[in-house]
Amino acid sequence: TLSGKTAIITGSNSGIGLGVAEELARAGADIILNSFTDRDEDHALAARLGAAHGVRARYIAADMADGAACRRLIDTAGRCDILVNNAGIQHVAGIDEFPVEKWDAVLAINLSSVFHTTAAALPMMRAAGWGRVINIASAHGLTASPYKSAYVAAKHGVVGLSKVTALETAQEPITCNAICPGYVLTPLVEAQIPDQMKKHGMDRETVIREVMLERQPSRQFATTGQIGGTVVFLCSPAADQITGTTISIDGGWTAL
Ligand code: NAD
Repeated sequence: TLSGKTAIITGSNSGIGLGVAEELARAGADIILNSFTDRDEDHALAARLGAAHGVRARYIAADMADGAACRRLIDTAGRCDILVNNAGIQHVAGIDEFPVEKWDAVLAINLSSVFHTTAAALPMMRAAGWGRVINIASAHGLTASPYKSAYVAAKHGVVGLSKVTALETAQEPITCNAICPGYVLTPLVEAQIPDQMKKHGMDRETVIREVMLERQPSRQFATTGQIGGTVVFLCSPAADQITGTTISIDGGWTAL
């Protein structure tokens, strides 16, 4: 059980981050949800999760594109035993047409935020005598696709930064690893299915198998619950010596 531990999950008002927060709460951790918005529904979501699992839960708004705000998120939480760096965005365009501001935003949110939150959290983990840094990278942290230059560069960067964090904490009860999901069924992905069905004139199952999961040999999406379960595993004593590595949850994508 993770009771007594506080977990901060960046970008967690939807998708994978929310799924990870839910599994950590189920395992007994107090949770801090985050995104850049500050709506009533964001705070209500945290309250609902906390009540459902009998843990303390808070929502703290902070824009992960802003390094000072990243550090402020950790400082405002006041405690960080488990840091899950999950916030991320994508932009698809050829390198010669890639908008510079999109490049900067992808690198800031997907990579630099991990540097800032980790820098702010490590002293808290050292003071508490235990810590876990878990970075949600991607199959695109290990392989590439055309037209995703910023995303692939940032995710490879996250994998590299995870290794350095692991080496700097290797002799302490702190570990750092990167999880590399393939295609995960999130609300965002779910919303693309009807369009893809229309575009290709295929039914739901065929468009998922033949179009969306073309690179995922299992031909099945990973689920946010599976990502969350892996995060909980990395927080368990069985994972004490797992550090500086990647765990792929990609139905065989990176075996190809
Ligand atoms: P999503 O868009 O559903 O969630 C992204 C989260 O980040 C949201 O909560 C969003 O509010 C938040 N966010 C975006 N910009 C932010 C900012 N500037 N500051 C703070 N929060 C911000 O996407 P997702 O699919 O759940 O992705 C989560 C992570 O998993 C990302 O890092 C993504 O690259 C990675 N990932 C996703 C997949 C997939 O198939 N869905 C596969 C591999 C890796």
